[in-house]
Amino acid sequence: MDKNSLKQQQTAYRALVRKLPGIAYTDDESRFRASVDNLRLSFLPDVVIRVKEASQVGEVLKLANRYTVPVTPRGAGSSATGSAVPLHGGWVLDLSDLNSIEIDVVGRIATIGPGVITADLQAAVEDKGLFFPPDPSSKKYSTIGGNVACNAGGMRCVKYGVTRDYVLGLQGFMADGSPFVFGLPLKKYVSGLNLRDLLIGSEGTLGVITSINLKLIPKPEKRWTGMFAFKSEAAALKAVVGLFKAGVSPSILEFLDRQSVACAERYTGKVIFEGFSRSSILLIELDGHPAEVRGQRKLLLGFMRERALATREAKTALSAEKLWQVRRTCSQSMFSIADTKLNEDVVVPIAKQAELIRYTIALKKEIGLATPTFGHAGDGNLHVHIMYNRGSKAEMKKAKAGIRKLMEKVVELGGVITGEHGVGLAKAPFMSLQHSKAEIASMKAVKVALDPKGILNPGKVFEPFEVWKHDKVEVVLPWDHR
Ligand SMILES: Cc1cc2nc3c(=O)[nH]c(=O)nc-3n(C[C@H](O)[C@H](O)[C@H](O)COP(=O)(O)OP(=O)(O)OC[C@H]3O[C@@H](n4cnc5c(N)ncnc54)[C@H](O)[C@@H]3O)c2cc1C
Repeated sequence: MDKNSLKQQQTAYRALVRKLPGIAYTDDESRFRASVDNLRLSFLPDVVIRVKEASQVGEVLKLANRYTVPVTPRGAGSSATGSAVPLHGGWVLDLSDLNSIEIDVVGRIATIGPGVITADLQAAVEDKGLFFPPDPSSKKYSTIGGNVACNAGGMRCVKYGVTRDYVLGLQGFMADGSPFVFGLPLKKYVSGLNLRDLLIGSEGTLGVITSINLKLIPKPEKRWTGMFAFKSEAAALKAVVGLFKAGVSPSILEFLDRQSVACAERYTGKVIFEGFSRSSILLIELDGHPAEVRGQRKLLLGFMRERALATREAKTALSAEKLWQVRRTCSQSMFSIADTKLNEDVVVPIAKQAELIRYTIALKKEIGLATPTFGHAGDGNLHVHIMYNRGSKAEMKKAKAGIRKLMEKVVELGGVITGEHGVGLAKAPFMSLQHSKAEIASMKAVKVALDPKGILNPGKVFEPFEVWKHDKVEVVLPWDHR
């Protein structure tokens, strides 16, 4: 930082503590905590601001804009792509204390602060017989503000859609501190250009959200869970296409390849399907009215009879939980292969998933690194992992080459480089594979129009970033103990 800008930052800080005393922190611990997210690269902010009321966000942004201080909005910091870290220092705006929840049971709308934890909102609405379906695996930690800013997905998207499908209105502040109201707690709203949808998925680069109106739906009365083993990934993914054609409408449809299953079996010392070790697996949930679930179950089991090697049905909520544990174990067990996991969240058309898996298996042979893959096969969103050891330069080089090849293949298959984690820093190098120069220029023009001084989350999405040039930090994050 040059002398002038250092002086400007100091003036900005003094103005901040004068205007909003007691909410700005400069101690090492606060700054370090706000310097990392789940990408585990650390960039220290100068100040962490924990706002207690929405209006303070407007005041902070007015000052930041006047003195050109970078501002990085932050929820829980669970971003998988580095979108929540202050790449260029400045101020981290911690929104986690804005966590009020109001539920309009008649209108089926929740009006909440962005800091509400996803699972807390789900519990609060379910208490009233209502349902908020988006369920990222990080739901016990992530905030709804972060979910909106990343347009988070999860397992239930196959039936219920992503976070965007539930956002009715967003209120907050633009980069210069002016308030905005893009949508209200109303089911219909078509006044003016739809900037609400522009903000969803904008990763804190276009505005700061301080209040969110969410659509709720009635809570499904019944759930059923089943698990199916297949001899190969191709057979499992062929079944995915076939079951939709047969009229099955799952609320969750998860796929595990044989590499993932092998990891879990090695890690637990138990075979998931006795007699069918290292099979590929589909985990399926049905939900709805009991009669609908009964009908769907019959259809599904009839369809699977000829196709699956083995079937397991959960008879109780506890046994359903045991089946879901299989999926969770896969994720943790991968660290028995290597100490670092690149977790991609690519999407391809449902019918092309088998081709993608054939490619990940070929890639494993080509680069000599494991590529275990699982994910949301119901909407083509697969988590392809490349496992490597951080201490090995050779493995790191192979992983880097592997990720680029994977992204090229995904785009060639008509897919997208990210389906739920967003771009942040980690996916920025692949934006030019996905988008034309004109498309990127349009996105940048929007950014300049809404944030002319470029103070909001600078360095994200558009600037090519070399993740590999930065060392990961050793830090234990809350979700590491799941
Ligand atoms: C174990 C684990 C599992 C995960 N599973 C999933 C999954 O299944 N599906 C999925 O989609 N993601 C998943 N993620 C990624 C992550 O949890 C999501 O991206 C989540 O939406 C981030 O929420 P957060 O509160 O942690 O946001 P943060 O990480 O704090 O911020 C994320 C982005 O949102 C911006 N932001 C935050 N709040 C606001 C606001 N109020 N206004 C404007 N911008 C804001 C930040 O600037 C940043 O760009 C997972 C992460 C982990 C660690």
